[in-house]
Amino acid sequence: MKRILPLIVLSLLMIDVLAQQPNPCGTTSGRSEWLKRYQLNPELYQRDSDTLLMVPITLHIVGDDEGDGYIRGTDLFDGLCRLNEDFEPANIQFYLSDVRFINNSAYYTHETVLEGAYMMFAENVENTINCYVVADPAGNAGYNLPYAGIAMGKSSVSSFSSTWAHEVGHNLSLPHPFLGWEGGYGIDGSTVNYNDPAPETVTYDYTFFQDQLYEDTLIVDTAIVELVDGSNCQVAADGFCDTHPDYLATRWNCGATDSSQVIQKDPMGVSFRSDGTLIMSYSDDACANRFTEEQIAAMRANLYDEKPELIENQIEGLPLAGTPNEAISPQIGETVQFDDVLLEWEEVENADYYVVQISFLPNFPGPLTDEFLTVDGNNIAIGSLFNDRTYYWKVQAYNSHTFCTEVSDVFEFETADLVATTEFENALEARILPNPAQQGNEILIVSKSSQNKVVDLQLFDISGSLLFETNTQLVAGTSTWALPGSAALPAGTYILRMQSGDAFLSKRLVVQ
Ligand SMILES: [Zn+2]
Repeated sequence: MKRILPLIVLSLLMIDVLAQQPNPCGTTSGRSEWLKRYQLNPELYQRDSDTLLMVPITLHIVGDDEGDGYIRGTDLFDGLCRLNEDFEPANIQFYLSDVRFINNSAYYTHETVLEGAYMMFAENVENTINCYVVADPAGNAGYNLPYAGIAMGKSSVSSFSSTWAHEVGHNLSLPHPFLGWEGGYGIDGSTVNYNDPAPETVTYDYTFFQDQLYEDTLIVDTAIVELVDGSNCQVAADGFCDTHPDYLATRWNCGATDSSQVIQKDPMGVSFRSDGTLIMSYSDDACANRFTEEQIAAMRANLYDEKPELIENQIEGLPLAGTPNEAISPQIGETVQFDDVLLEWEEVENADYYVVQISFLPNFPGPLTDEFLTVDGNNIAIGSLFNDRTYYWKVQAYNSHTFCTEVSDVFEFETADLVATTEFENALEARILPNPAQQGNEILIVSKSSQNKVVDLQLFDISGSLLFETNTQLVAGTSTWALPGSAALPAGTYILRMQSGDAFLSKRLVVQ
């Protein structure tokens, strides 16, 4: 029943079809050739359904050209946690084989699925499911391109949304239960009157959702409309008999009954409501929470049979050892220099990622909370905060396989302007490590200088008395050197002053 028509003839029609897709999911997924083959004889494909299948995801976190706008780390991991919860009954779990950051405004907000396809062709990593989290995936909450990957809108990634599971469902061969109704009733966009019996067939455009990309062709297909009595369920709509008739192709509210308010009539005139619990339907997030047994069997068979490369290496995750419940720096209640804040926390064994939240309100309201996702260790330089404020922060640890984790206790510190510094041309830059330092250990200075120079060092106690003075030779660039005599300093608070010509800086140093 498939027809491939020249684009020119139907280009006007196509614009019309695409213009009316404000869809929760941009995927107009037909039944793939693989799924059609599979559904002729599903028993042939059955394997041990008790085997847990681990599937690698390459996650592309996309920001604009300036590197702004990445998805918030908590939303990202909440979304991954939800994805794995949605797939638990299928005995399929996803892990992060890689996390990449891409700064590209044209990807971040792309207007057409075709642009998304080119993004994926340019960035995809083989043998993984490639997921791109962007601001606007062509006007959709998300979409899946069978030959490339998944684009997700960052606002649709959360613990409340099954959109990610929906798109991965498409990726693993599942169509919508309302297959054929996408984009209206027929490719001419004619509207549906649900009071009338449905037609026996519907026609839909799935140009971009074939097994490969045919750029210059409009591809339409015809689907048989599913009957309530189940007599044509194997050939109608999605071809699954345990997803019942559903003709609703725009986002709908499932209400308290888990089914649609809209009553539809099948071609025989039998009335029914759509099932809102299906993740592959367009019911809203309040109800969509499951795949059916036949859908699960198809997804598992799709992995074994069509995409064995995804499950070839079953990589086990390492257990994440607890929650980072200790603040190392600043210590709880400590006052720190407002424009030079480094947050450091207890390392969690086997953690690959940490998300830090910081706010000047202890309840961390979303818009007044900054988030930092770090992939390199248990500290992060925040830079400048407001002066004279109390700040609250907390940390959550994750690894490649563990997304549903506990957030740490809330830590607290104060900011102040502890050292008055004056900017001079050719100024020095330096950091003290560690700070606070432990008594008896050497203290390191990491300094940055534009040229070779001799620097005078003075160390004062907190009352301003000069303890000693010395000098050191700095080479151009960044250098790390030990503060002379630092291992012998008693516990206390000190001010280190460095001066070269008319450039100087002062740093507060704590020895514990
Ligand atoms: Zn969809």
